[in-house]
Amino acid sequence: MMNYMIRGKKIVTVSHLGTLENGSMVIENGKIADIGSWERMKEQFPDLDVIDCSSYVITPSLVDCHTHLLEFAPTSLYPVTPDTHFFAGKAILFHALSSGITALGEQICGHPLCDFSKEDYQKCVQDLPLDVSFATTSISIGFENLAHFTSITQSRGVTQYDLSDPVLVQMIALESDYPGENIFINATPANFTEKEVPRAGEIIFTLEELERIVNIYHRLGKRMGAHVAGEEGIKLALDAGVDVLHHAHGITDDQIEKAAKQGVKIVATPMGGTHLQPNSPEEILKFIEKDIPVSISTDSYLPPYQGTSWLPFNDQTLKGPDVLMLIANPAMQLLKKHHYNENKILALLTDNPAKLLGKDDVFGRLEVGLEANFLVSEGVPGLEITEINNIKNIFYKGVKVVDRT
Ligand SMILES: [Zn+2]
Repeated sequence: MMNYMIRGKKIVTVSHLGTLENGSMVIENGKIADIGSWERMKEQFPDLDVIDCSSYVITPSLVDCHTHLLEFAPTSLYPVTPDTHFFAGKAILFHALSSGITALGEQICGHPLCDFSKEDYQKCVQDLPLDVSFATTSISIGFENLAHFTSITQSRGVTQYDLSDPVLVQMIALESDYPGENIFINATPANFTEKEVPRAGEIIFTLEELERIVNIYHRLGKRMGAHVAGEEGIKLALDAGVDVLHHAHGITDDQIEKAAKQGVKIVATPMGGTHLQPNSPEEILKFIEKDIPVSISTDSYLPPYQGTSWLPFNDQTLKGPDVLMLIANPAMQLLKKHHYNENKILALLTDNPAKLLGKDDVFGRLEVGLEANFLVSEGVPGLEITEINNIKNIFYKGVKVVDRT
């Protein structure tokens, strides 16, 4: 079926159209050709086939703009070898897709067990019904002896000194599709347990080093993102002119103010990902109140941070992109309580991360001309539903790719 019309109980467009009760969309060649009230559209397009979803909600599909699904996850979840690594990778990607996510921002950090290049990762995703952007990065892991890797040097470790080498930084920057966590200002716990990574949180760069690295990205016309948490690290990031703060756990009110003034974007990861307590719903509300473009992301696979009041997990088993709606729900509920519109709230999982990936002219909203990437669900994802089984159909470029009806 090339061209068709789809009808929903309501369509939450996340565009200037807002929510359309009893709405419908015309899909032509994988793109949205028209969108409006069912009453108007059925008159205007009497000959089109209609997919009747009038008891369901239609929304843009989700975008998880900070994940580690292809590099860290296969070896953490499955007993893979280099020859079966991407076999597991594809299963993990399908699971993300079946969770309502049709676009990912993947990090390639370098990893001792993965001697793969960006091209290898790209090859794995090229024919899949998923839009994957890659951020190439360096990484510092907080083991007893800090371990440093980069996307360029792959499975071979590098020294802390190498991380600021302008030639290496430029090679990383050139390959990066978008401002993911291009550098780790603090050593990360990654997906290890506290005992394994006693030096997680340690600051890796001086201000001068950071400024030089940011400059390299900016000279290439690229924005740069950083993994950062804690007041001291965030101060460095803001002073050095980093464009996107990933995590920003432990950010102070003054720093939120400064980030807003500097036009800095934030990728909140309420499940964890740093040495500190992750973003609370109240913190995410503060970002929105200051008009900071904020995306919520899983940073998966991760062991969920223990001891928060807003996370529903009681164990440290690794959690994946299927919990995106669940971990976003407390913040989304709080925004609703503060009378934010459901379109603005859903943007945290759709339009804002699409913008971060530089793909907001391709997807992230339901708007004429954009790709027909959308969900048919029992409620607004993350706000009214948190279970992936409540997403009935997933469409990518107009094609149904997941069916739970
Ligand atoms: Zn990460």
